[in-house]
Amino acid sequence: MTFNETRGNDGTKPAEVTFSQAILSPSASFGGLYVPKKLPELDFEFLKAHCESHYKDLCKALFEKFDVDIDQTDLYAALDRYDAYDDPNDPVPLNKVEEDAFVSELWHGPTRAFKDMALQPFGYILSKLAEKRGENYLIMAATSGDTGPATLETFKNASNVKVACLYPDGGTSDVQRLQMVTEAATNEKVIGIHGNFDDAQTALKNLLASDSFKEKLQASQTQLSAANSVNFGRIIFQIIYHVYSYLQLVKRGEIDMGEAVYLVVPSGNFGNALGGYYAKKMGLPVEKILIASNVNNILTDLITKGEYDLTTKSLIQTTSPAMDILKSSNVERILFDKFGADRTKALMDELNQTGKYQLSSEELEILREDFDATFSSDEEGKEVIAEYAKKGYIMDPHTATCFKAYKNLRKKSLKTIIYSTAEWTKFSPTVCEALGHKAERDLDALQWVSEQFNVPVPAVIAELFEKPIVHQTVVDKEKIEEEILKFI
Ligand SMILES: *Cc1c(COP(=O)(O)O)cnc(C)c1O
Repeated sequence: MTFNETRGNDGTKPAEVTFSQAILSPSASFGGLYVPKKLPELDFEFLKAHCESHYKDLCKALFEKFDVDIDQTDLYAALDRYDAYDDPNDPVPLNKVEEDAFVSELWHGPTRAFKDMALQPFGYILSKLAEKRGENYLIMAATSGDTGPATLETFKNASNVKVACLYPDGGTSDVQRLQMVTEAATNEKVIGIHGNFDDAQTALKNLLASDSFKEKLQASQTQLSAANSVNFGRIIFQIIYHVYSYLQLVKRGEIDMGEAVYLVVPSGNFGNALGGYYAKKMGLPVEKILIASNVNNILTDLITKGEYDLTTKSLIQTTSPAMDILKSSNVERILFDKFGADRTKALMDELNQTGKYQLSSEELEILREDFDATFSSDEEGKEVIAEYAKKGYIMDPHTATCFKAYKNLRKKSLKTIIYSTAEWTKFSPTVCEALGHKAERDLDALQWVSEQFNVPVPAVIAELFEKPIVHQTVVDKEKIEEEILKFI
């Protein structure tokens, strides 16, 4: 498989690259992204053949269809990372919570959020590629809480890769902060900054664009790369669980092969939803992908009105912080797929210059063939958490945003896969509050929910509170570059 660019080619970069090139240098011409030139097809024969397949075997079969330039031994070793999931025989369990609603739990990996699904195997593959090419990479991550821990976890002690991870001091949960600052691997540096997530993200973008910073890195033979979901190396792993969850429904006799389902995806940067869209395009029987947001509802406006307008919005902090996003990067890949490179470049240029764009009514109709969208307030989310806790199912605040979409957006009574993107233990004070008890700190909230509702706290979370703090650095924005260079 080869890759094209969403905004066309500027003559300075190759117009077509391989999978490994797209992974190592993920930014394309004019600030665009790489997209697969042609998606493979998943016919019924393929789907039927894999109804009983192990998750890793399904991955292998799908990668074969994608025909990427990664050695088979490296891919297989990368997939072995799923063996560390709670149940290696079923890393993505599907939970029936209503007659038509099935929750696909994507968080049974080491950091208890869905970022592990892609970052675990991806980290192994990137490090292997770097090692084979004799190159050294610095991966920089700015995090509001889930990407940081997952990036640190996948690259810890990896060869030829160093990680610098920026987080807003005071802007994450206790669990999320501890997951980062207790990370002891010597190839990783965690830096707290005085400011919010936007400040961390802006600082990171400035460094990525800085020639003098790159020169200084080159002096120590280090290149920059990115592990966020603009990297197609992550997206490919996010197609697979959509296929797997569908096949689980067939296997259990809940649907017949070929029967359409709805997918409900709690969305921020749109990587998860894009994986579902590609799966649908490849032939997975999906009626529509329903996009759930919190009050940062720019995706709802896009999908219901064709409008993407940053000028009338400012970021609002919610209890589902991983979805507190206004610039949703992977929307661009959908625009490209639907409307081509010229139109995508025009729309993205307009967004950069004026802060907004508007799709035509024909374009909106085309978008709505595959998507619908709605959003929930924090209060609505807490009501959902309480309602399902009474029925014996505890969920996190991101997952909770999905239920309004499930209840209001389905036009047909089809079976529905709801994606759960984090374990409740990562956001326990909010869950605790929704269940009628106020706890200031994560530790109290974890204990209370666990005892009242008889749900376990996994060892990887409980142990965090005993581990020594390794990273004490908290600096002003201006000092970040200096800290990273010291570390390199
Ligand atoms: C990252 C994240 C999301 C958003 O996923 P996207 O692929 O960026 O849309 C939702 N929930 C949780 C818990 C996350 O960590």
